[in-house]
Amino acid sequence: MDKIKKYIECYIPTETCNFRCHYCYIAQQGKFKNKLAKFIKTPQEIRAAFTKKRLGGTCLFNLCAGGETLLVKEIVEITRQLLEEGHYVMIVTNGSLSNRFKEFAQFPKALLHRLIFKFSFHYIELKKMKLLDQYFDNVNLMKKSEASIVVEITPNDETEEYISEIKEICMEKLGALPQVTIARNDNDRRISHLSKHSFEDFVKIWSAFDSPMLDFKSTIFYKKRKEYCYAGDWSIYVNLVTGEYSQCYCGIRLGNVYENINQPLKLIAMGKKCSLPHCYNGHAFITLGDIPELDAITYAELRNRISGDGTEWLSKEMKEFIGTKLSESNSKYSSIQKISNEVKRYGTAFNNRIKKRKTKDN
Ligand code: SF4
Ligand code: SF4
Repeated sequence: MDKIKKYIECYIPTETCNFRCHYCYIAQQGKFKNKLAKFIKTPQEIRAAFTKKRLGGTCLFNLCAGGETLLVKEIVEITRQLLEEGHYVMIVTNGSLSNRFKEFAQFPKALLHRLIFKFSFHYIELKKMKLLDQYFDNVNLMKKSEASIVVEITPNDETEEYISEIKEICMEKLGALPQVTIARNDNDRRISHLSKHSFEDFVKIWSAFDSPMLDFKSTIFYKKRKEYCYAGDWSIYVNLVTGEYSQCYCGIRLGNVYENINQPLKLIAMGKKCSLPHCYNGHAFITLGDIPELDAITYAELRNRISGDGTEWLSKEMKEFIGTKLSESNSKYSSIQKISNEVKRYGTAFNNRIKKRKTKDN
């Protein structure tokens, strides 16, 4: 059975979308620039930067754009290359672009078993654009093709009045209720939940979906992490176009994955220096095990659903893989290693500052 070696959170710099959800993080930051990601590296070159040998084992990749991930056609071949390398891949999508799903459905079964689609369920937009049937056809096509699926709703005040309707349609089309995430306000220093309701009331309202994802997220949202976090070593955050990678959404730049591809990646754990007010995507980072002292449910438990016909949203392979923890294939640091990690962190941060200054002066 494969065990997760690293979690690679990949940002695809596409900053446009065929939807216009009012709660969209990109819209909030005025970033709808009609900008599609332009890959300089070929899918084969991207694969060469992420070999199992270089990363030390089988990894979980999350491909997520600043807009709709599947707008850029290269994502299909990049996904194939990463799967052929032996990795597991997750793709975040609004589920509307049927042609892309038809291409994925042609992949060999052995690859599809290691692929998961995180279908965001934007009910109001889907209804407005008359795309509900197309959306569920795409979800069910991927499920039938033996890839894993997750349907996930982004709760927002405007959708509240449709909760019963959404439950009904999901039971009819999927035989299960969607998972529920928490929409956040990225313009706010606290990165607060995006709602006029108090956090407690908000969670109560959306508990109607009985979602393990919401149950878990609500326990970590608004909690500043003070434990030792291995992001930067056990997981990294990469811009898949430029190759620039850093410890996490915060923290220091570690390098460029496309440079010196025959060398191991430079990895430095965040330790206790996370600067974010809370770990808003900890439903992945924490459940996968970046903070081993936290006893969290597995990512598989948080994502899976069993449909009315007894079938599960996760394939057997995906369920086993994302049911493992990063600490099973990475060793925790000794006290000495933690000190040496700090020294490396300071040194790298210092060098980054000098480089930045030099670039400015030039
Ligand atoms: S589908 Fe996603 S990226 Fe597109 S507008 Fe909605 S939230 Fe934003
Ligand atoms: S606590 Fe969460 S956000 Fe902070 S570095 Fe760790 S994984 Fe990243």
